[in-house]
Amino acid sequence: MNNSMNKTRKSSHGQSPPTFSNAVDRISDREMSMCLFGSGGTCCRNCNMGPCQIIDGVQDLIGVCGATADTVAARNFARIVGAGVSRQVEEAREMVRALRATVRGESPFMIHDQPRLVELARLFELDHVGLDKNELVQAVGERLLAEFGNQEDELALLKFVPEKRRRIWRELGVSPRGLDREVVELMHRTHMGVDQEYVNILRQTSRCALADGWGASRVFGLLNDIMFPAPPPASAREGCLRNDKINILIYSQSPLALEALLNGLDDPGVKSSLGNSRARGINLISGAIGEQESMVQSGAVDVLVVGGSCVMPAACKAARLFHTRIVSVGNSIKMAGAEHFELTGPGGLENARAILMMGIAAFAKRAKKEMDEAVEAVKTTMRRHDSIDARGLARQIKTGAVRGIVFLIGCDNYRVHGDGHLDLAEALLSHDILVMAGGCVSESLARAGMMQGDDVWAKAGSLLTAACRELGINPVLSLGQCTESNRLLTIASSLIEEGLGNDFADLPLVVASASWTSEKIVATGQCMVASGITTFFPNLPVRGSKPMIEYLLDKCRVDYGANWVLEEDHRKLAKAVVSHLDGKRAVLDR
Ligand code: SF4
Repeated sequence: MNNSMNKTRKSSHGQSPPTFSNAVDRISDREMSMCLFGSGGTCCRNCNMGPCQIIDGVQDLIGVCGATADTVAARNFARIVGAGVSRQVEEAREMVRALRATVRGESPFMIHDQPRLVELARLFELDHVGLDKNELVQAVGERLLAEFGNQEDELALLKFVPEKRRRIWRELGVSPRGLDREVVELMHRTHMGVDQEYVNILRQTSRCALADGWGASRVFGLLNDIMFPAPPPASAREGCLRNDKINILIYSQSPLALEALLNGLDDPGVKSSLGNSRARGINLISGAIGEQESMVQSGAVDVLVVGGSCVMPAACKAARLFHTRIVSVGNSIKMAGAEHFELTGPGGLENARAILMMGIAAFAKRAKKEMDEAVEAVKTTMRRHDSIDARGLARQIKTGAVRGIVFLIGCDNYRVHGDGHLDLAEALLSHDILVMAGGCVSESLARAGMMQGDDVWAKAGSLLTAACRELGINPVLSLGQCTESNRLLTIASSLIEEGLGNDFADLPLVVASASWTSEKIVATGQCMVASGITTFFPNLPVRGSKPMIEYLLDKCRVDYGANWVLEEDHRKLAKAVVSHLDGKRAVLDR
């Protein structure tokens, strides 16, 4: 993590930058190691007789209510997943709201992909013949919203799941119903004194995680495709804070804020004000969690737009030390000192224009000397990989030219040193493994030049290089935001359709993470395991319970055909991944 602007360093102009302690400083200032009960998952504060710190196997150190380590660790793990899923569900709901607002003319967006809308109508068995575009959006929007409130039946979106996997879920009783329903079910079950048997709690955890990966994430991805065309590829290595441009920094996993501002750029009033300013353009930037503070600390950000999750409160604190205006968007987030705007609904386009005008006004006040300190930043509007030649990829996997596929997920984490995402990706590429990445990992790999250009090819093994050239793909592919994990499941389903096994558990395909911060990432991991895809993480807060560890790392394979693997050392993790993929290949070859 960049800690180049610490509290005492002088700028190149001999002036001290405004005092601000960043996340790296705060970790070192705390001088505290992590609490063993918290990191082991056995600290319970679910009722007012606690908090209780529980030691597995020590009779005197169970909870006041009698809860044992496995119950408490399962409840805590479930709530991590539940919180992650709830965030994803809300992001998906925002997309449906945006779709419906668009046909009412109340949003700054457009419908770009009507054929895909028709496909969706067919999936839901809607009578769409003769409907005009607005009626079609209305019908599909209502049907999508029904997936959130569904009470008893399986999600209609499970039609995308291969039949064998659906049968497994039905037998286990984990087929997800409504998106909201599964989060509520998980929260009430983990209330003090409700569900106490850890495997049963973990079953609901899986059900909730599946509602995300196969429901919320699918809705998000479909509507992203329907409303927003894939962005053009952008170089992430240039460093994108510009001295001569208005820098508007956007932190949100949803594309809504970025797209609204992009549309606002066409406004004649904005163009005229921009022409009268000294700025040479407006620079819209989105970035990963680990860059938030350092980018704002450069003094070069004119507007900081926050919406969605993973916004560090300290980034806004840093912004207040400069001329930077702070804006919150959407119906989920407000911050002290931020001006709030709604971008979806009546007045959305006007609000987008207002934010751009704020940037133009703030640019005039920017202290130009601060730009000398600007840190390298990343432009994240990378092209997400919308389609892949599944038949060709299946063929390359069968021949062994592509040894396997790894989907890298995760986040920057200030407690983790070095660039684990990059280390892991490079190790996998050298073993002829195709790397797919989402969210912050995509951004990290883009920053390192792995999404385009020559460098990535030098890291890839010779077999993988030849296979990717034949397929016309980069050895590292971005699958979009961390909210879009379903894109991997879609690719995996296509491989099965092409005859590569009968189920996800048959495929030489895993999910891996070098580091994580957000609860959403754990939710994605649990969805993958429950879908039959073994998932490698550096750590999970469950080690305080032996039964939990035994179940997640081993016994759950009986249920799902996949399990978690925990390994903090990136080299060992890569080795374990290669060995796992080879094991799957050996079975496929029989
Ligand atoms: Fe302690 Fe039980 Fe209350 Fe948890 S639910 S805080 S273990 S008494």
